[in-house]
Amino acid sequence: KKYLYLFTEGDATMRELLGGKGANLAEMTKVGLPVPQGFTISTEACTQYYEDGRQINDEIQAQIMEYITKMEEINGKKFGDLKNPLLVSVRSGARASMPGMMDTILNLGLNDEVVEAMIAGNSDPKFARFVYDSYRRFIQMYSDVVMEVGKKYFEQLIDEMKAKKGVTYDVELTAEDLKELAGQFKAEYKSKIGEDFPADPKEQLMGAVKAVFRSWDNPRANVYRRDNDIPYSWGTAVNVMPMVFGNLNDNSGTGVAFTRDPATGENKLMGEFLVNAQGEDVVAGVRTPMPISQMKDQFPEAYAEFEKVCSLLEKHYRDMQDMEFTVENGKLYMLQCRNGKRTAQAALKIACDLVDEGMRTEEEAVSMIDPRNLDTLLHPQFDAAALKKAEPIGKGLGASPGAACGKIVFTAEDAEKWAERGEKVVLVRLETSPEDITGMKSAQGILTVRGGMTSHAAVVARGMGKCCVSGCGEIAMDEENKKFELAGKTFKEGDFISIDGTTGRIYDGLIPTVDAKIAGEFGRIMAWADKYRKLHVRTNADTPADARKARELGAEGIGLCRTEHMFFEPERIAAFREMICSDTVEEREAALNKILPYQQSDFEKLYEALEGYPVCIRFLDPPLHEFVPTNDEEIKQLADAQGKSVETIRNIIASLHEFNPMMGHRGCRLAVTYPEIAKMQTKAVIRAAINTQKAHPDWHIRPEIMIPLVCEVKELKFVKKVVIETADAEIANAGAALEYEVGTMIEIPRAALTADEIAAEADFFCFGTNDLTQMTFGFSRDDAGKFLSAYYDTKIFENDPFAKLDQTGVGKLMKMAIELGRPVNPKLHVGICGEHGGDPSSVEFCHKIGLDYVSCSPFRVPIARLAAAQAAI
Ligand code: PEP
Ligand code: MG
Repeated sequence: KKYLYLFTEGDATMRELLGGKGANLAEMTKVGLPVPQGFTISTEACTQYYEDGRQINDEIQAQIMEYITKMEEINGKKFGDLKNPLLVSVRSGARASMPGMMDTILNLGLNDEVVEAMIAGNSDPKFARFVYDSYRRFIQMYSDVVMEVGKKYFEQLIDEMKAKKGVTYDVELTAEDLKELAGQFKAEYKSKIGEDFPADPKEQLMGAVKAVFRSWDNPRANVYRRDNDIPYSWGTAVNVMPMVFGNLNDNSGTGVAFTRDPATGENKLMGEFLVNAQGEDVVAGVRTPMPISQMKDQFPEAYAEFEKVCSLLEKHYRDMQDMEFTVENGKLYMLQCRNGKRTAQAALKIACDLVDEGMRTEEEAVSMIDPRNLDTLLHPQFDAAALKKAEPIGKGLGASPGAACGKIVFTAEDAEKWAERGEKVVLVRLETSPEDITGMKSAQGILTVRGGMTSHAAVVARGMGKCCVSGCGEIAMDEENKKFELAGKTFKEGDFISIDGTTGRIYDGLIPTVDAKIAGEFGRIMAWADKYRKLHVRTNADTPADARKARELGAEGIGLCRTEHMFFEPERIAAFREMICSDTVEEREAALNKILPYQQSDFEKLYEALEGYPVCIRFLDPPLHEFVPTNDEEIKQLADAQGKSVETIRNIIASLHEFNPMMGHRGCRLAVTYPEIAKMQTKAVIRAAINTQKAHPDWHIRPEIMIPLVCEVKELKFVKKVVIETADAEIANAGAALEYEVGTMIEIPRAALTADEIAAEADFFCFGTNDLTQMTFGFSRDDAGKFLSAYYDTKIFENDPFAKLDQTGVGKLMKMAIELGRPVNPKLHVGICGEHGGDPSSVEFCHKIGLDYVSCSPFRVPIARLAAAQAAI
């Protein structure tokens, strides 16, 4: 089997095999761009490595040897050669880009002899410095990445050396210093590993390839994949490329650039450049680079060529490109290109601009946007008036837009811990490293002292849609003591700070935020999405405010109103508790009658908010014990109100205790035991509908009543009879002409299995995939979080089935229910209202199996609209 490919053997279509980076290196080669010629080890070699128990088998090793020879011939250089030594970089590259999540090794091929020979062949004293610097970097990277020795030991040695020499910066160290450091590094390696540092470049390469394969499975890559829906089974490719040296001299440098602004989408070349440096210095955010426009002055020729390359690549890929390049002695080399990561805002603008520029169709534009990213646009922004008044205390780079305010924390672990206990935090770091990813996720925003627009912090934050201000050099950081100084003030852990990821401004204290609006490019894309999607999108809303928000965001109805949420307000809960503690039907009805007007007026408000769109009201679902009082005072109040003893009330409460409440006395089982509840709720729905219809004759009000947790058609029949008798009497009483529907949730496997029987009685099905997942897996939806992380670690699961629909199992039940139900009742309409209704991959599945609508929380409505369009395109 062929596992290796020269860059001349591939092209952009071979992404699955060569990874994104490999495929694009091949494509750039194909269109004649200056790419150092190397080879790609395919993703299949990576999956084979895992299949073989984390070993590179003989076949693959032999092919690697063969391709080393080919690469040597193409470049006229050889591994370990003392005249023309070949040095290479070894980089990961999965099918989907995972910036900074996996490992890279540079300057591979160096050893003592090669170093000495290189220096002997060049009399420029600066060259010696460059070679020793490359060497010590290589030993450091190899030890860290391949042998997992840990960076800190080497950093400590560098610090000691700088202290000894009385200098502040690495660049101030001389060739001799660096030579000495390289020696110390090798000694460090030997003391940690127990063997000499490998001098044979081929051995070095094999170790590096193994390390890159291994890094596919490192914790941060696993987290990143889960967040970005990238399957573990894909594996990563490895790219081996001859080194070009941006740190050769002052006529060299390295940069990262985007053909359009990845933060705003503005159509102008944006990027950063570091003179006399290697690529890692830019992306790792260790030194703050200069804007690419300045490269023009220092490297006019290379810059002019680079501009040409940019426009060629953008036209070629018809998308914004993110490129890494190096200038060696004035000559430009392209090291990487890919469709650039961008903020949601930039994604919308770029997609619209590409349509306007005639490069993309509307459908393509819709498909270019990652629905999950829209989330950031829907969340609050700083209140403009408050922002105007606020005095910025500092400014960094607006690396990822949005507004963030919260308490200052200094480590990723603290960010996670504090967020877990419900605090909003802003993570302030000297620089972030990819290991900080979970802490970044937990924070409202990230503020860094070092690093540019293309540093890992910025790229990762943009990918997550997280607000980030980077490179605020004015901050005098004291990470150790968890404090920093800015604008003459000391900020400690827990102090409030606000950051604006659009402008890069930093503010003392909290600035109020306001809701976002769908307008401009966002509106355009959503209009296109609506044009192409087939699925309707409803919302889960229990309050008029949520319903109005959802309407604003484009909801075409309420798919689930959880009526129990309306019972918790003070005057209602008292009446509801009386209902629970009643001894007779009469007592119960009296208590329910107190709630009826509240519930009716709630429903009227929902109908108003929905402006004639369908409203589906689900009857009471949770177990009654969730409503009873727990403290003495409230128990006493309830006893007094009912004229019962405290003891009696306590006994009633105790009798409601269940060992397994989620599988207990809840859902339609409540209506079976206490039909009065269903009666009251029916009255409230029908009266509200009649009133709304009267007030708005041009709306077509057709209430949908939904019975939860049905597992047997006779249950539904029983409750439905109560509903119909009550509703028909109400309608007759009012002399109105109102049609209504009675449907059911499908959220117990048995309901899906007997959907043909149930469909004969139901006007609609709505999949309650929260409960359906719970009961199909037998995982408690409230407790699964406690053990799911072990399932991720062991790769039993890649995702939380409560967040991303399990298409194999739960999905099969859904498909079956539709296939059984529709022939029996051709008018049956079918939706989903579990949390999955707002998850893009689940929405796609719902489209495929022919649902009529998805229903999700208000803020996810635009996400579902876009995902539905993408499924249809
Ligand atoms: C469900 O189970 O999916 C559902 C929507 O109902 P709830 O979450 O209220 O149980
Ligand atoms: Mg449910």
